[in-house]
Amino acid sequence: MTNDRPADLILSGATVHAGAGAGTDASPGPADHVAITAGRISAVGTATEARAHAGPNTEVLDVRGAMVVPGFQDAHVHPPHGGLAELRCELHELLDADAYLAAVAGYAAANPSATWILGGGWAMPAFPSGTPRREALDDIVPDRPVFLVNRDGHGAWVNSRALELAGIDAGTPDPSDGRIERDAVGAPTGTLHEGAMDLVGRLAPPATQTDMERALLLAQRRLHAFGVTAWQDAWVTPPDLEAYRALAGRGELTARVVAALWWDRHRGLEQVDDLVAQRERGLVGRLRAATVKIMQDGVSENFTAAMLSPSLDAGGRPTSNRGLSQVDPELLRAAVTRLDAEGFQVHVHAIGDRAVREALDAFEAALEANGRSDHRHHIAHIQFVHPDDVPRFRRLGVVANAQPYWACHDDQMIDLTLPFVGEAAGWQYPFASLRRAGAALAFGSDWPVSTPNPLREMEVAVERVSPEARDRDPLRPDQALDLRTALDAFTVGSAFVNHLDDSTGSIEVGKLADLAVVDRDLFAPDSGPVGDAHVVLTLVEGAVVFEGAP
Ligand SMILES: [Zn+2]
Repeated sequence: MTNDRPADLILSGATVHAGAGAGTDASPGPADHVAITAGRISAVGTATEARAHAGPNTEVLDVRGAMVVPGFQDAHVHPPHGGLAELRCELHELLDADAYLAAVAGYAAANPSATWILGGGWAMPAFPSGTPRREALDDIVPDRPVFLVNRDGHGAWVNSRALELAGIDAGTPDPSDGRIERDAVGAPTGTLHEGAMDLVGRLAPPATQTDMERALLLAQRRLHAFGVTAWQDAWVTPPDLEAYRALAGRGELTARVVAALWWDRHRGLEQVDDLVAQRERGLVGRLRAATVKIMQDGVSENFTAAMLSPSLDAGGRPTSNRGLSQVDPELLRAAVTRLDAEGFQVHVHAIGDRAVREALDAFEAALEANGRSDHRHHIAHIQFVHPDDVPRFRRLGVVANAQPYWACHDDQMIDLTLPFVGEAAGWQYPFASLRRAGAALAFGSDWPVSTPNPLREMEVAVERVSPEARDRDPLRPDQALDLRTALDAFTVGSAFVNHLDDSTGSIEVGKLADLAVVDRDLFAPDSGPVGDAHVVLTLVEGAVVFEGAP
């Protein structure tokens, strides 16, 4: 350190996981102290080294037995949705259809003046074929429209009143970017997939700016409690951006936030000028809106993932359905090339192997047209990756942005994916192959789709088994990562994709003191499953943003 000012805080006695890329020394000596001065890390080392930084006013926090790690960074998360869910009819933590219906009934009774019942978080496996029906809601709420988005955000459960308001009946065609679930005679049954959600959703009263700010603060509190100090918000609409701006302007945004501005798939390249204007507005405090998010397909469970091969029917025979490319591949190439030239980072949602390929093709087109950039474009989800496409990530400099919690035999995988995807079942979540091929890896939770707890997410990356069902067989165990790689993906890897790796993502002298303290040494042989560990302290620039007992 260049100044001799004493440390404000010393974390003493913990194992320090400095993180890959820390310093110039790949394997720094054992450290059990971190000193923090004016928001930055001023020393990492032994007790003797740390004591040299102590002054009369230095606070020393004994965290013996714990582990200090770089603050986690979530490379793909939806805090506005997660926070709003907490303000509305919240189903995420519930387990089955009966519990959902009881919660809806309770919410409707508690909010008699709400003109709409809004909320969500239901899981597809709770219903036959993953598609709940309107009648169950009609019995509880016959007179007000109900619109409940599912856990992955790709479908909604509605009642008859909502369908009636939207004028959806047997004669309504499916929109080009979605599907209305129907019975044998074509009548809507109560589930709307992908773009069909908008037919009802656009009629619902939008959240107010005050609601959005409250939602973001709730989400931030939750994420800090899991040691998250920075994130990339993977779907930022103009109202979301205004809420972030307000919080950042008032100094209430304690997290570092990269806002991925939403690409409207119903518009073309003319929207780039609007995105440039939003980017200018989105540079306030710890907020930076220099990314554009493009959703290239849907999800596997409702057959809207864009696949190279057709999906199978229940009898294992090929259908004619290869899912949806939500942006025409030619437009995608043009859009990515233009956004790259404008200096944006592009973040593409791709689940199916065809969507992944279309995204890579678009990044290749941008590279050919504009040359190499340091924009650190990324593809999120990467559920199915054709083996031929694995090496292209490194070649094109595209970051693999994975949501590791899904890489296991959960009910969704067993009931709604494996029976219908044929050979591609074996190409799922190829994290180890991507690493071996030299791809940069970042991790995110996609909360509220999945838990925002990075430690539980990492357990799946390491074990390929869900912490909810540890007795099941692993999914493609050859694609498991070691814990160090998983931890790096959630820290320095995500910091890289967030363009925050210069100042955060590892524990090095001079970097910002964005840190998490975990209740055990994650690498100790007797530490148990990583998903059972707990964050007990979270710091942003040395300031406590979460403190709790395990
Ligand atoms: Zn997402």
